[in-house]
Amino acid sequence: MDSETFRAAGHAMIDFIAEYLIEAGKEPVLARVRPGEVLADLQSSQPHPPESGEAWAAIWSDVERVIMPGITHWQSPHFYAYFPANNSFPSILGELLSAGLGVNGMLWATSPSATELEIHVLNWLVEALALPSHFRNAGVIQDTASSATLCALLCAREQAVGWQGNEVGLSSLGPLTIYTSDQAHSSVEKAATIAGIGRGNVRQVATDERTLAMRPEKLAETIAADRAAGRKPIFVSATMGTTSSMACDPLQAIGEICRQEGLWLHVDGAMAGTALVCPEHRAMAEGLDLADSFCFNPHKWMFTNFDLDAFWVVNPERLVRTMSILPEYLKTQIGSETINFRDWHIPLGRRFRALKLWFVLRHYGLCGLRHHVREHISLAVELEQLVRDDQRFELAAPRHLSLVCFRLKGPDHLTVRLRDEINTGGMMYLTHTKIGGRTTLRMCIAQSQTTRKHIQEAWDEIRRKADRVLMSETT
Ligand SMILES: *Cc1c(COP(=O)(O)O)cnc(C)c1O
Repeated sequence: MDSETFRAAGHAMIDFIAEYLIEAGKEPVLARVRPGEVLADLQSSQPHPPESGEAWAAIWSDVERVIMPGITHWQSPHFYAYFPANNSFPSILGELLSAGLGVNGMLWATSPSATELEIHVLNWLVEALALPSHFRNAGVIQDTASSATLCALLCAREQAVGWQGNEVGLSSLGPLTIYTSDQAHSSVEKAATIAGIGRGNVRQVATDERTLAMRPEKLAETIAADRAAGRKPIFVSATMGTTSSMACDPLQAIGEICRQEGLWLHVDGAMAGTALVCPEHRAMAEGLDLADSFCFNPHKWMFTNFDLDAFWVVNPERLVRTMSILPEYLKTQIGSETINFRDWHIPLGRRFRALKLWFVLRHYGLCGLRHHVREHISLAVELEQLVRDDQRFELAAPRHLSLVCFRLKGPDHLTVRLRDEINTGGMMYLTHTKIGGRTTLRMCIAQSQTTRKHIQEAWDEIRRKADRVLMSETT
């Protein structure tokens, strides 16, 4: 592609993206293709890779024809499912610049600015979220919270076994055991399988029935029982804002247990971490100074497009000691006074992700971020009230931050049907979870463009669908 074509296509692409995001609420949120439909179309229109290169116009027209119908519109203001992956224009520009510069920031020497901007923006986040000051110069960008949790667990494991696991494997090192709550994200269990701990050695500590937060006394009991049985407790992953209901584990109490027992404490704040930008939401971080590591996802709620997880480890030499591998071809002249982020995560190569976060932080400013976070939370408070005011519904968990969990009163199948009616309707998209064994809808309000009008429309839609479900139930 010559640079003239690139310019023209690029300008048109920016126009397309701008238009797409402005119009994001107009399409059915959930893609309406059947499984295999996109693939069948691709295979029938072009069964083999083209022998000779094609014109850009031909390529682009297939984006519109084949790809777009199979897109679920995550940026729709009516996307309330899972947790969001919200984005913003400055973030997209950061992603574009990163692609344009095309650097691999694996070593300081392979792009000093990539490393040093990353240090800088993660220090900004320490200040912005009022994180413990020992997280300064101890942060690294990971792709996802799952990777961050895995890195934390690997460090905890190596520290616990005197840095021997990487050398001799784990079989002689005892049944290493880790702890999380029964509400924790599945990435903790996945990390345990990948780190060689084994799913069977993950303890899911019981949570409080109402708050759904880990019960510290249960944690202490479980650790004691495991020690008595000759097991080796090494790691606790606490959650600041669970995926199901945004519940927050009591970090102070858990941290004290970890200190006493010599266990690594990791705190997973994937979604909720962004809210720490607001002083009024910092109570959930009480005790975070006892954590060995912490992560959250600017790619969920901080207007930074997927993917970007921010991860901190107290005394990051432990991370380097766990991850570092130094073949001859990666040795550089510059030694210990620089950071080589390849030793701070699992892959070798790394994208220049710090740019988009830098753009976002500078574009919005902390005031701007606080404004949007508060707006989302106040919309969730309004939705919570709407749920309370409708006798047919009940709240399934205390609302926390911008997540509202609710269901139809009565048997579970009503709520399941309601979810399906809502999602096939196309106007909006939400997902479900189970709380206390019961099916529950969860509606997370954190999209860049969601406003009061959208929440009112969404609630009207939910009520219309509820009418249908309950009507057909009685006839
Ligand atoms: C979303 C979420 C994760 C996983 O995030 P990824 O970045 O996709 O790995 C982990 N923990 C919690 C609490 C989450 O909400």
